[in-house]
Amino acid sequence: MRCPFCSHPDTKVIDSRLIADGEQTRRRRECISCGERFTTFESAELLMPRIVKQDGTREPFNEDKLRSGIQRALEKRPVSVEDVESAISRIKHVLRTKGEREIDSRILGECVMTELNQLDQVAYVRFASVYRSFQDVSEFQAEIERMANSSQQGDGE
Ligand SMILES: [Zn+2]
Repeated sequence: MRCPFCSHPDTKVIDSRLIADGEQTRRRRECISCGERFTTFESAELLMPRIVKQDGTREPFNEDKLRSGIQRALEKRPVSVEDVESAISRIKHVLRTKGEREIDSRILGECVMTELNQLDQVAYVRFASVYRSFQDVSEFQAEIERMANSSQQGDGE
């Protein structure tokens, strides 16, 4: 690694430790030319699969797009940013561990619904209504009815 101070091409590692539950390595490095020290963080970068959309076109996985979709569903809902971020990492983890180079957008949609279902029922329905309307209306209606029934049992209305 090139020294960020003098651009010398060679630096030595003087300390190395695992952080973030072992998912990152933090390295202290020292330039063998100017002697300056700096820190690097290293983590495995697993490539995200491309997303195959309904019309057959492909697009790169877009984390910002995923996040804004989830945030839209969660608008004015009592869910913390931290919970949203953990949901996003779980979704990415699922997509990566499938080990496919391309993944149907339906699988991504199902992952989002699984997470929203855990986070917030209102957000889940909002997302499902947008998402499922393109594929299976009857399944969505069944879901709404199931939820209406269970909330009636819940608060006795
Ligand atoms: Zn240097």
